[in-house]
Amino acid sequence: MDYQTRQQHIRTALQEQNLGALLVTHLPNIRYLSGFTGSAGALLLSPQRTLFFTDGRYTTQARDEVQGAQIVISKKGPLPAVAEFLTNQAKHAKTTERIGFEAEYVTTAIFSQLLKALPKKVRLRPSPPLLGKARMVKDRDEISLVRAAALAGSKLFDTILKVICPGMAELDVAAELEYAASKAGAEAMSFPTIIAAGKRSALPHGRASRQPVPRSGFVVCDFGVILAGYCSDMTRTVFMGRVPQAARDVYSAVREAQLAAIASVQPGRTVGEVDQAARKLLQQRKLGRYFIHSTGHGVGLEIHEPPRIAAGQKEILRPGMVITIEPGVYIPGKWGVRIEDMVLVTESGGEVLTPASKELIAV
Ligand code: ZN
Ligand code: ZN
Repeated sequence: MDYQTRQQHIRTALQEQNLGALLVTHLPNIRYLSGFTGSAGALLLSPQRTLFFTDGRYTTQARDEVQGAQIVISKKGPLPAVAEFLTNQAKHAKTTERIGFEAEYVTTAIFSQLLKALPKKVRLRPSPPLLGKARMVKDRDEISLVRAAALAGSKLFDTILKVICPGMAELDVAAELEYAASKAGAEAMSFPTIIAAGKRSALPHGRASRQPVPRSGFVVCDFGVILAGYCSDMTRTVFMGRVPQAARDVYSAVREAQLAAIASVQPGRTVGEVDQAARKLLQQRKLGRYFIHSTGHGVGLEIHEPPRIAAGQKEILRPGMVITIEPGVYIPGKWGVRIEDMVLVTESGGEVLTPASKELIAV
């Protein structure tokens, strides 16, 4: 991983923001900048150097993982250690130092703790989401990891097709899927697996429950794995039993909407246009009012990252972005369908990273 280039990129942004340094506390951002995968750490990035603070539990792990940063192990924990370092530094400084912090992730409790520990010469300033912005466009190493995660996730759809049958609890389907994921080398699932069968398929976030899979009806399966830190995310919807024409129609409308959104992916376009492509198709099929969420989201070290692929969003698609495209139709009390792929924005369009079939499969 090219941590130096990533750090350099943030340094340039710091200058533009007129900040003397950036205090990074969000763990995925720390991982992105240094490789550290543990659960306690803080990174201080200044124009001259990068310091990584952690506690004694992570001495060995930090030495193994952290690259491009000087490691500071402190008994007091990462943030008090950062405060101590900045206090010492301020003693020798003639001017006040503006330290940016990740406003999205720092709680008021932590903020006041820091404020109390720091001398007047050190000013804390909320920083815009510099890392969120940088992480939107994946570098070469990341693209190959995202690709591998998407592929590993996609293979698990076969497991669902193999095990699912009427009467089986949704939770048991999820358990089989997660066991297969684990056996295939996944570190964890990206999020709690969604298996929503029958009427529950109309719940866009129907986590697997004790409810048995019915003899007839849709089953929405939304799942993902984490591989080398990178998340996959996909949804397939299958039908139990003989498929009535109405189910066929709603499924093909969602699939066409999904394909239209994928076809609209083009560097230079806004993410709002991608959302619009899916929405327009479902409106034409008189299903627009049942599409009650946004079309997708960025995905990488975290399952939900910028950009949001939603109505009116102005973020411009750039090569290297990895987004999901997941339109759905949910008819309360009846059924729901969602189809989701991961899509890489390329120089010339969008490349689907999720190879699993999108034909309507009757089980
Ligand atoms: Zn999903
Ligand atoms: Zn998703």
